[in-house]
Amino acid sequence: MQQVKELIPRFTKEQLQERVRALGQAISADYKDKDLVCVCILKGAIPFFADLIRAIDHETMCIDTLRATSYGNSDTSSGVVKFVKDVELDLKGRDVLIVEDVVDSGLTMKEIVQHLHDLGAASVKIAVCIDKRERREVEIDIAYSCYQLNEGFIVGYGLDYAEHYRQLDGIYEVVLANS
Ligand code: IMP
Ligand code: MG
Repeated sequence: MQQVKELIPRFTKEQLQERVRALGQAISADYKDKDLVCVCILKGAIPFFADLIRAIDHETMCIDTLRATSYGNSDTSSGVVKFVKDVELDLKGRDVLIVEDVVDSGLTMKEIVQHLHDLGAASVKIAVCIDKRERREVEIDIAYSCYQLNEGFIVGYGLDYAEHYRQLDGIYEVVLANS
């Protein structure tokens, strides 16, 4: 693990809160008469998920969690995804909203979407905090995102560098010591 020299602020707690509120309103309207199940992708999506579900106004919404690990370097994706913790609810015929921290290459998300379709979901959509476009390798339809970013490795608000910085309430760009 390379040493971190600096964390440059990218999105503040207040900016994130405002975007999450807007997403919550849009999701509330779009899923008004649907059988909504929000699925938190562990661990990175935990803070975003906690804020987003409380910004959604939907009486019968359910929540679940899924943990997928992809093997590769700490900052890139190999596309080989393993589900180490599966959802527990029966998703057959239900409208699933995946809640994830970041989509980068899209390889992990593609596998998650396929997995939830395989479990019989009636619809599968994606809400992501940060939509990173630069390294996208597969086409992913992202229905809701707080922000789009073209470059940089970011941490905070659930996002980690070698498991650190997930607890920060803003999002920061990592500058490594030898860069
Ligand atoms: P993918 O490249 O879209 O498959 O992303 C796989 C995983 O890489 C994400 O779920 C994150 O855990 C991690 N990741 C990608 N970009 C970043 C980043 O900028 N900061 C922290 N983690 C990232
Ligand atoms: Mg992740």
